[in-house]
Amino acid sequence: MSEMWIGGGRTGAADGRVFDVVNPATEEVIDTAPRAGAVDVDKAVATALRAFPEWRRTPGIERAEKLHSVARKIREDEEGLAVLLTKEGGKPLPENRDEVEWIAACFDYYAEIGRDAVGRVISPVARNQLNFVLKEPYGVCGLIVPWNYPLLLLTWKLAPALAAGNTVVAKPSEHTPLSTLRLAKALEELPEGVVNVITGYGPEAGMPLVAHRDVELVAFTGSQATGRKVAVACAEQLKKCHLELGGNDPLIVDEGVDLDVAARGAAWACYLNMGQVCTSAERFYVVGKAFDEFVDRFVAFTKTLRIGDPLGPDVDLGPMVSAEQRAKVEKKIADSVSAGARLIVGGRRPGRFAKGFFYEPTVLVDVAASMPLMREETFGPVAPIVRCRDIDEAIALADRSEYGLGASIYTNSLEHAMKAMEQVHAGTFWINDPLTDNDAGPFGGMRRSGIGRELGSEGIEDFRDSKHVHLDYVIGAKPYWYPYRYGRPRE
Ligand code: NAD
Repeated sequence: MSEMWIGGGRTGAADGRVFDVVNPATEEVIDTAPRAGAVDVDKAVATALRAFPEWRRTPGIERAEKLHSVARKIREDEEGLAVLLTKEGGKPLPENRDEVEWIAACFDYYAEIGRDAVGRVISPVARNQLNFVLKEPYGVCGLIVPWNYPLLLLTWKLAPALAAGNTVVAKPSEHTPLSTLRLAKALEELPEGVVNVITGYGPEAGMPLVAHRDVELVAFTGSQATGRKVAVACAEQLKKCHLELGGNDPLIVDEGVDLDVAARGAAWACYLNMGQVCTSAERFYVVGKAFDEFVDRFVAFTKTLRIGDPLGPDVDLGPMVSAEQRAKVEKKIADSVSAGARLIVGGRRPGRFAKGFFYEPTVLVDVAASMPLMREETFGPVAPIVRCRDIDEAIALADRSEYGLGASIYTNSLEHAMKAMEQVHAGTFWINDPLTDNDAGPFGGMRRSGIGRELGSEGIEDFRDSKHVHLDYVIGAKPYWYPYRYGRPRE
């Protein structure tokens, strides 16, 4: 059994309960993790609260050294972490090696960013005064993340929260708790109690963390439905809440581009991690003459993708994370086909696997804007492709969404790229290179895709509160104090 990480030590749940963690490629139980409840949350939050005063006082340069040490330790354990991520989450091993390298780089980035931009001096309102703005940590932050990038999504919160001087209690998804518990080994570099990891289910462990009176800020990544519950619970306590939610990202392919590159890039943007990426391309708008050839090339390329054991060599696509997630995708495709969509490839489980939540990458045409497939997040390897009259129609359709997480375009036209960039609501807009992230650039959603930003300087600002300090260095009574002098001008 793996154990939680509280106060710099390992522990089970207070009542001894555990839950199974299943390998989605084999359906075998890999290990168990503690099933935390409110009592465990109390213990973890109390521990983080005790650690806070000392960590907040720690000079930025010392915090930076410790965060760099965490990055070093992560790199030392790269293969172990990557293999465990693969076993519990199902992404192919090379993707998980990348995930581990990205998190180490993110700790290094925030180690340095944390030493900078700690406030500003402002112009005072009178002589003999100094006014400045300090940036302070909030206190204990509750971090809750999903299963698709368990370590990356946690690190996008954890590294800036720590660099800003907060202490944290983190809760990974019940599907992927093991890699986070293993990551805790690298966190031994930090003082006891600065980071605490609890494991368990959303309503039993996540909600008590969100609603805990001593948790000052909640940073959540997950579905829109859960995000709404988290936001309501935070609103009840007027607590700061940061949300990274779902998307239904469009990808436009313009006339005149190299359709071979566009088809391969679009396939990667759609099928990466079996479409279980918050910024997966989920709607494809292809302009005029490019349509037929793009569909042919996209379908031909889709057929070449190799599905299999994500730990094995020569595998492009592993399983989906769970039977439930696969069932949701199957239903969406079945509903779309009964409403008139035409299935070109995929749309079924590959026959050769007796076990595992595998699914074939799927292409559909003749889809309508009214179909749930085109309006809601699918979170699966599904590409619905729409023919557009011209670029203006493609841009208008791309922007027709309640979400606004990411959007992409392939085009040779500067004018079309700039028009699309201006008109499509998206926290990240990719031109000719979908889905590439940059730690130095903000990441997050417009519209209903979230509140706040991660990464970049914005990502640390969300973990810092502002304090305005007004200082008068010559003590004296003020003419505007009592008693008021009616009818006479102020001296
Ligand atoms: P989810 O909302 O079901 O769960 C996310 C986390 O919340 C898990 O740790 C879960 O245990 C916890 N949780 C569940 N119910 C809770 C409750 N009532 N109170 C508190 N915590 C609770 O999401 P998921 O299925 O794990 O992840 C997929 C979703 O995450 C997709 O919608 C995807 O778009 C989104 N996502 C967003 C981003 C982003 O940065 N915007 C990144 C990755 C994934």
